[in-house]
Amino acid sequence: MNKFEIEDIHLEFEGEARARLLIIYTGGTLGMGYNEEGALTPMEFGHVLSRLPILKELRLRLSVISFDPPIDSSNIRIDQWGDIAKIIAEHYEGFDGFIVLHGTDTMAYTASALSFMLRNLNKPVIFTGAQLPIGSPRSDARENFIGALEIASAYKADKPLVPEVCIFFNHLLIRGNRAKKVESNHFDAFESENYPVLAEAGITIDYNSAAIRLADSSSTLSINTMMDDSIVVLKLFPGINLNVVHGLFNTKNLKGIVLESYGSGNVPNEPWFLKELRDAIDSGKVILNVSQCNGGRVVQGKYQASSALDKIGVISGHDMTTEAATTKLMYGLANFQNQEELKSFLKKPVSGEMT
Ligand code: ASP
Repeated sequence: MNKFEIEDIHLEFEGEARARLLIIYTGGTLGMGYNEEGALTPMEFGHVLSRLPILKELRLRLSVISFDPPIDSSNIRIDQWGDIAKIIAEHYEGFDGFIVLHGTDTMAYTASALSFMLRNLNKPVIFTGAQLPIGSPRSDARENFIGALEIASAYKADKPLVPEVCIFFNHLLIRGNRAKKVESNHFDAFESENYPVLAEAGITIDYNSAAIRLADSSSTLSINTMMDDSIVVLKLFPGINLNVVHGLFNTKNLKGIVLESYGSGNVPNEPWFLKELRDAIDSGKVILNVSQCNGGRVVQGKYQASSALDKIGVISGHDMTTEAATTKLMYGLANFQNQEELKSFLKKPVSGEMT
């Protein structure tokens, strides 16, 4: 994989390093600067580094692999999710933890995708970014980045405290496939409505060990980066009509639909809508039902407005985020040819993404 070169960051400090961490710099606001038109644009990692003389105080051995060029995360592609997974797998033995610097816009999608691609993960993979570039005086970049480094290097009795794919942002450590970007202006960009936060950083970092997945040190990391993007997300709205739904569900090569329904999984129970769902499933497509609400869960059959869904064969996504459902569906479609196996994969929690 020579398209990604690893560089050591030379930091001078006395004594032994506490841990070895690999930073994967993909871009995002954290490392952006302003171009001639005054728009924020991604810059090289050296730009980030030059603003963090404090790094040497952490006594860490750091290396970095950068996307070339670094990107705004609105441009991330699914093969680049695979690149991140492959970088982690290739350097897994040499490092105690991994930091992924990533734009906030699609961070929850990438973190969710990685949580499915990295099987038997036993080391921390901590995503972070910022709402303001690191060069801005009031930037949140420094705290987010330093906090992520602290968490990725936190070990007790040779065991990592957080062997999971997570997002650390604005003092909170959130499981990656439970996170949602909920704010584009203030610093509290991410929320985890349906799962407790894994840690909170104040004067100390308080870990919520009961909520953190236990590492199984007897198993070894394996990766599977195959994803199938033949899917669509349909967000319901009052007034949605047959023409639109029919056109969308009959898109060429479409294999899966994430249905963002109302409240606890409700849909218009009009005959035309239910027929479109039935026809899509009869033609071999998979429909995964998640709620438009950030908190709560899909309970098919709780209301009359969702009672037909189980019978038709719509799969309940329970309390999964749209981001987790989208990436799980892409992963499932690429890896299970057999419909029953695919459905059973979608129905059960595989990476802590549903309760
Ligand atoms: N557009 C930026 C990105 O996602 C936003 C950010 O980083 O906060 O790359």
